[in-house]
Amino acid sequence: MESKINYKKEGENLQEQQFITKRATVQQLEKILFEPIKVLDHGFIRVIDYMGDDAAIVQAARVSYGKGTKMLSQDKGLINYLMRHYHTTPFEMCEIKLHIKLPIFIARQWIRHRTANVNEYSARYSILDKEFYLPDPQNIEIQSQSNKQGREGVLDPNKAQRVLDILREDSLRCYDNYMDLLNLDEKTGEVKDPNKDGIARELARMNLTLNYYTQWYWKIDLNNLLHFLRLRADAHAQYEIREYSNIMLDIVSKWVPLTYEAFTNYRKDSVNLSKTGVDILKKMLKGKQLSQEDSGMSKREWSEFCDIFLNQK
Ligand SMILES: Cc1cc2nc3c(=O)[nH]c(=O)nc-3n(C[C@H](O)[C@H](O)[C@H](O)COP(=O)(O)OP(=O)(O)OC[C@H]3O[C@@H](n4cnc5c(N)ncnc54)[C@H](O)[C@@H]3O)c2cc1C
Repeated sequence: MESKINYKKEGENLQEQQFITKRATVQQLEKILFEPIKVLDHGFIRVIDYMGDDAAIVQAARVSYGKGTKMLSQDKGLINYLMRHYHTTPFEMCEIKLHIKLPIFIARQWIRHRTANVNEYSARYSILDKEFYLPDPQNIEIQSQSNKQGREGVLDPNKAQRVLDILREDSLRCYDNYMDLLNLDEKTGEVKDPNKDGIARELARMNLTLNYYTQWYWKIDLNNLLHFLRLRADAHAQYEIREYSNIMLDIVSKWVPLTYEAFTNYRKDSVNLSKTGVDILKKMLKGKQLSQEDSGMSKREWSEFCDIFLNQK
């Protein structure tokens, strides 16, 4: 069954109500408001609402420092300062509400981030659409040997095709049985056999596979969104959640460009250095040759350290 919600129309209806607001608005974000931005094969992210902008962060910070409005260059410096020193509460003054459609197995990772407000599509109340995620063949990789939580090395095309066939067949079969358990006709949504009882939606759904899509409204403040993105746009996160994170990074860059720049510089593309790491770096800058054995680091930590600073193992 196809999804019946016309998101475009929904946005247009709201945009028809034109009036002047005294609230801060961000032109770049207004342009994409309500528009579904495609992610994976059937997923999307839509910006539904937002509050605040870079200026709201600066304003909140200046309240705590008891200083008035300054120039843009000083705003940028202040935002960089706040980000660098983990002075996080001014970033909590901004909020964003997103409508997200995502596979259930990604939703399970996503929901671990407890600092958001969530309303999920109820599969107790409604019938799930026949929409499931199938990866692109180039994203079907074999189990990584070095990282138990990861994948590495693309599968050859024939093997990838077999994986896709299995995923598709199982997903379709499970959906057929889901409809059968509900006693519903897939095409019309009407009762299939009037002499039979369909079981409750809350029970029938357990037959579906984890690649089926769910949807939710997700509202979060900017500080916690950046925390999410720091973890989930990172190379260690699963490819599928990174795809969503990359779209959200783009949304953040449109919404709060100064904060986005500071976040990229001081968090996302920065590194954490332990005291041991700092000591080693100081010795190396003085010309000392050090090996893993001298470093006091584990093999893994040393390898990560060399990857960052020496680009050698
Ligand atoms: C690459 C990767 C691999 C992972 N692997 C696994 C895994 O194998 N198994 C697994 O179970 N999880 C795993 N996780 C999930 C991870 O352990 C965290 O649960 C998840 O990333 C949410 O992080 P968070 O708690 O910092 O975020 P949020 O819940 O958004 O919280 C943000 C911050 O708020 C504060 N906070 C929130 N709630 C509390 C609280 N109750 N008490 C104190 N402080 C709080 C903390 O400072 C926290 O950092 C993985 C995450 C990543 C990114």
